[in-house]
Amino acid sequence: MKRENDIKLILPLSIVEELKTCNRKALPIESCGLIFGEIAEVEINLEKRQIHYRGKRFYCIKSNVESLGSFNLIQDSDKYFEIHQEAVIRNKLRMISIFHSHPVPAYPSSIDVENMKFLDKDIGKVKNPFKNQIWTIMNMETEEINGFIYFNEELMQIDLQIRKN
Ligand SMILES: [Zn+2]
Repeated sequence: MKRENDIKLILPLSIVEELKTCNRKALPIESCGLIFGEIAEVEINLEKRQIHYRGKRFYCIKSNVESLGSFNLIQDSDKYFEIHQEAVIRNKLRMISIFHSHPVPAYPSSIDVENMKFLDKDIGKVKNPFKNQIWTIMNMETEEINGFIYFNEELMQIDLQIRKN
């Protein structure tokens, strides 16, 4: 898989702890949730620009349907509406990442890749809010996390950075 180091997901340690708690609470089934924050284009030098997804807030969502994982929350529109009201309307944040955990290594499954492709499409003229989201995947056992994006019809692993504050 291609690695794209110019797309970064920057998470404070406090959010990483919340992801781990979300994972442990859901065991043995997959946990899922949404990370909200900011997306900024950062100029490194004249030729180089990076896109930084900065996490500020995490919402752990209880998934009742085994194996559907994160896709389930997208179908639960009431829950999504509630989170959207708080994170986007009240706190002026953007959705930046879809989180879920895996019983297998922290890489997208074939179902995840299908969902990523499906969510890459706009719905008519409406911009799909799940498009260009980073998929943050945690290994249930080791709690290792990786980030992925489906961008320009290509699946890529992005650079995930954890910050102490
Ligand atoms: Zn998955």
